[in-house]
Amino acid sequence: MPYPIVLYPNKILETPTKEVVEITDELIEMLDGMRETMIAHDGIGIAAPQIGQSLRVALVEIDEESGLFEMINPKIIKAKGKDIDVEGCLSFPEVYGTVERAKEIIVRYFDREGEEYEVTATEYFARAIQHELEHLDGKLFTDKIIDKIAPEDLDAYMEERLND
Ligand SMILES: [Zn+2]
Repeated sequence: MPYPIVLYPNKILETPTKEVVEITDELIEMLDGMRETMIAHDGIGIAAPQIGQSLRVALVEIDEESGLFEMINPKIIKAKGKDIDVEGCLSFPEVYGTVERAKEIIVRYFDREGEEYEVTATEYFARAIQHELEHLDGKLFTDKIIDKIAPEDLDAYMEERLND
């Protein structure tokens, strides 16, 4: 079942989350619910505080091709390069802006089976992971916005970006 999205302002969004210590049935249920919530809101990523759970859990699914990444206790172990691009957030409807992120990262995390992974991510995938992982530290993208983009200008901006 999809969860209601926690909207800003809410203290939980600015509170660092706790590590997951055990993968329980409740956690699996939460992962499934988070994915449904992300899909229901057309998101490409979601972090546990956004559904009211202060846990180090985040999902990213930028498109069908790259598929779903369910990350438990994720950690960025390497980051390089710089890239500026537009972001939005489920907890800030209608807020869009450009943010500087690392261009390439290596993220280490556990999946729902408790397997540990290390994944190299670049470009928008890397961006989405960095955005979601900052939620787990209680940090919000609005503090990093370089240029705000009005919702009505978003399509034009994206088109221009593709033509670059
Ligand atoms: Zn967000």
